Amino acid sequence: MKTTDTPVRLETVPLWIGGGPILSTSPRKGEVTNPATGEVIRHVPMANSLDIDSAVRHAQAALPAWRNTPPARRARVMQRFVGLLQENAKDIARMVSEEHGKTLPDAMGSLERGIEIVEFACGIPHLLKGEHSENVGTGIDSYTLRQPVGVCAGITPFNFPVMVPLWMFPVAIACGNTFLLKPSEKVPSASVKLAQLMREAGLPDGVLNVVHGDKEAVDAILNHRGISAVSFVGSTPIAKYIYETGARHGKRVQALGGAKNHAIVLPDADLEFAADALIGASYGSAGERCMAISAAVAVGSAAEPLVEKLRAKAEAIKIGPGGAPAVEMGPLITSAHRDKVKNYIDIGEKEGARLVKDGRSLKVAGFENGFYLGTTLFDHVTPQMTIYKDEIFGPVLVVLRVETLDEAIGLINSNPYANGTAIFTRSGSAARRFQNEIEVGMVGINVPIPVPMAFYSFGGWKNSLFGDLHMYGMDGVKFYTRTKSIISRWTGMPDSSLVMPTLS
Ligand code: NAD
Repeated sequence: MKTTDTPVRLETVPLWIGGGPILSTSPRKGEVTNPATGEVIRHVPMANSLDIDSAVRHAQAALPAWRNTPPARRARVMQRFVGLLQENAKDIARMVSEEHGKTLPDAMGSLERGIEIVEFACGIPHLLKGEHSENVGTGIDSYTLRQPVGVCAGITPFNFPVMVPLWMFPVAIACGNTFLLKPSEKVPSASVKLAQLMREAGLPDGVLNVVHGDKEAVDAILNHRGISAVSFVGSTPIAKYIYETGARHGKRVQALGGAKNHAIVLPDADLEFAADALIGASYGSAGERCMAISAAVAVGSAAEPLVEKLRAKAEAIKIGPGGAPAVEMGPLITSAHRDKVKNYIDIGEKEGARLVKDGRSLKVAGFENGFYLGTTLFDHVTPQMTIYKDEIFGPVLVVLRVETLDEAIGLINSNPYANGTAIFTRSGSAARRFQNEIEVGMVGINVPIPVPMAFYSFGGWKNSLFGDLHMYGMDGVKFYTRTKSIISRWTGMPDSSLVMPTLS
């Protein structure tokens, strides 16, 4: 029998506007790939200014009722959302792993960290309390209110399809704002699922909207007069652009950028423990983490044994599709990104670094079209080399050798990025000096990835953050609210004022 190849019609991820899925008015579409297999699995619309305007109008329409909904009732929506996230955790993790490539345990772990932010947002009645001073003058009281800023937008990167959106909208919405989320066009599906679950949790239509797209959608957000605040997480050049353009349009902006995170290993450290920690922190999620350790700074005699341990442990990592059991590291997000990271390895070799472990020739049997790259380790890297200066965002760890703790601190403080850093040592005084002198936003002491808990705030310094306030925690509440200061006088009112006046 003769057969014809019928092309498979791929599903298009919908926008979510006004409480339900809708199609974009834009004819432009992108492809969403499964990085484990290299297959195109669905399409994503590239929203235009009409779509953004429609989402903003819905968010504006929902705002008056939502901002006046008592905070305790807003918190109850968040409580139900926590339950729904937990019930749907496996499905969400599978969705994240399919579009991003990370392993299921990684995807589950990142969802759990996101859920913690929603749990924090459940405390919003307490977090929104203002200050009150009685009798600042005779019969005069002074107090503050924290009020929502209005319609807020969040623009997120590909590497945490669920966790980074959860850094933003639960806090913003709990504060009484309405929200427009523009997730990375490479991993669009999980955001729509989150919006669906928020609706199931009882969120009124229009309070949370999801639009997909690229620069066109982002520019429409930055130019829209109806949006008061923009939260961004992504690479440094785009973070700077978002900050400058948003601020020029009168918006409040927090824009988190890229990173080059260093870990100092002192000779007195437990080297076995430090090497295990560095392996997890540099190759976990294939190095596509803004808190990944990408530069190890070995001090003095720590260098030789550390590099040998790292090499052996890097060799042992099992690489394959994120959904397969026992796999420890998945593929990179796209073939273009895999090729860019490969090119950095070529450059590192040419610039004279010692390539201790080369991941370029890795092939995963049965998944030859996936975007895999093996773990890669460079030694004798210098601060002038491209592989040190650039954020590579892949499974490439570079080792720099220095003689003293002073030199190590000086190296880190000279780097333009300042997201996270760590020190491995058994010396309390070395650790204390490090925490005091290091010019980096998030610091770990014998902890490789010092991501703050939900009730603290996340953010780097220097080129890793444009803006004043970090994300989530109390900084998040401050970012998504404006303080209003009130002075009131109630003196000299006649008792008769208690009687309702009559209309004549
Ligand atoms: P990216 O900057 O390419 O994209 C981030 C967002 O910006 C996406 O939604 C994308 O659609 C949009 N965008 C891309 N190009 C744009 C342009 N020219 N104009 C306007 N908008 C544009 O980042 P990515 O590749 O998705 O994510 C990886 C980067 O994010 C890395 O640099 C990583 O360090 C960083 N990151 C930082 C943090 C942090 O907390 N500091 C957290 C996660 C990721």
